[in-house]
Amino acid sequence: MAERPFIVGNWKMNGTRSMLSEARAIDRASQRLMKVEVALAPPYTLIHAVHKEVEQIGVGAQDCHPAEGTAHTGDVSAAMVLDAGAKFVILGHSERRQGHGEDDSMVKSKAASAIAAGLRIIICCGESEAVRDAGEEESFVLGQIRASLPDDLDNAAATLTIAYEPIWAIGTGKTPSAENVGAMHRAIRALLVQLYGEEHGAAVRILYGGSVKPDNALELLGADEVGGALVGGASLTAESFLGIVLAAAELPE
Ligand code: PEP
Repeated sequence: MAERPFIVGNWKMNGTRSMLSEARAIDRASQRLMKVEVALAPPYTLIHAVHKEVEQIGVGAQDCHPAEGTAHTGDVSAAMVLDAGAKFVILGHSERRQGHGEDDSMVKSKAASAIAAGLRIIICCGESEAVRDAGEEESFVLGQIRASLPDDLDNAAATLTIAYEPIWAIGTGKTPSAENVGAMHRAIRALLVQLYGEEHGAAVRILYGGSVKPDNALELLGADEVGGALVGGASLTAESFLGIVLAAAELPE
């Protein structure tokens, strides 16, 4: 893999200022683990505070609105999260697709807006258990990615990360086998090469997400074409998140 592994913590709807000490601890330890790119996506309310606390790790948002501004009560634009200190935004997480009815075309317009504002994007994709049971996971995931990507991505390798997160593995303690993860990541890689050419398509990082923990991280991160992890529950304490970062640091370069 050309790039350093990328380990991203998604704090979801967790975190008050009392959790800044966890961000600080993650940041300090990451300064000694430069082989790994580490980032946190706290809730909107903590983006600026985390950004001010950390020196090494990246800070991102968990979503943004597709519009540039004005009358959208309760929403937050890409320019606003950038201004708060975010460098990237997670888009199309299954909890937003399911809980907020976001479809691929909504993810695509959010992605275009985020890139126009100067953010990197992490586009999430992943099948339900029913889709996997029907043996349709690969076509489903590739279809989701095709339909969620913005048109005319100039420098895909620098701007885009894909996170493959089977819905049935999120927060459940269940994970696919490393072979299954590798098979899906190889299929995603082939699509990216088809869309962006050999050089850029091969350099886009594809993260695995879904019940990654310190004790399974090495195996999942070692699967084919896995360029890092998107971590939910295990990113909420420095102790468990750093266990995953340490596993990523052990991967052969
Ligand atoms: C996630 O929601 O992005 C996620 C991967 O959650 P968890 O690690 O808790 O399964």
